[in-house]
Amino acid sequence: MSEFHRLKGAFRRFRAIVLGRDVEIVGHCRMCGRCCRKILLKSDDHWLKKETEFTELCQADPLLVRFRIMGRNPSGFLLFECARLGKDNICTEYESRPALCSNYPTKSLYYHGGWLRDDCGFSFQAVTFRDVFMRRKSWRKPKFADVLRGQIEQDKDKRTL
Ligand code: SF4
Ligand code: SF4
Repeated sequence: MSEFHRLKGAFRRFRAIVLGRDVEIVGHCRMCGRCCRKILLKSDDHWLKKETEFTELCQADPLLVRFRIMGRNPSGFLLFECARLGKDNICTEYESRPALCSNYPTKSLYYHGGWLRDDCGFSFQAVTFRDVFMRRKSWRKPKFADVLRGQIEQDKDKRTL
């Protein structure tokens, strides 16, 4: 995770708590298979950079051996491809896919400064300070417990596509 994404994620969490408004995930999957290519994998609170970390991750969760290192992104994070993606862009092991796939996209991705592709059928919808200031959205009292509980739930998914 780059410093930029760390800060972006921190700002998003701060805003959600202050406004008492959790991000929403809207839309639906278009089955394009693009999120199954050039995948970033996460361990605890960081994206993988070391091959040894990936080996350890696979030992803890053998379902992850389907992922193969295909390179690095410009920030130096490992990029993976999935051996289970069919030529038709459909998952060949849909019923037994790892949790990180079935949970995608997660709010955790958003709260860690991540983003979705522009052509993904899903999108993050968050209330901004400008929305409240311009009265496009209502402000309601911060609910620390709710936001925090949601964040903790999302963090249970240790790895994110
Ligand atoms: S990129 Fe988005 S629309 Fe395409 S398969 Fe992944 S979740 Fe579905
Ligand atoms: S297991 Fe299936 S859903 Fe998960 S990355 Fe591979 S092809 Fe995609």
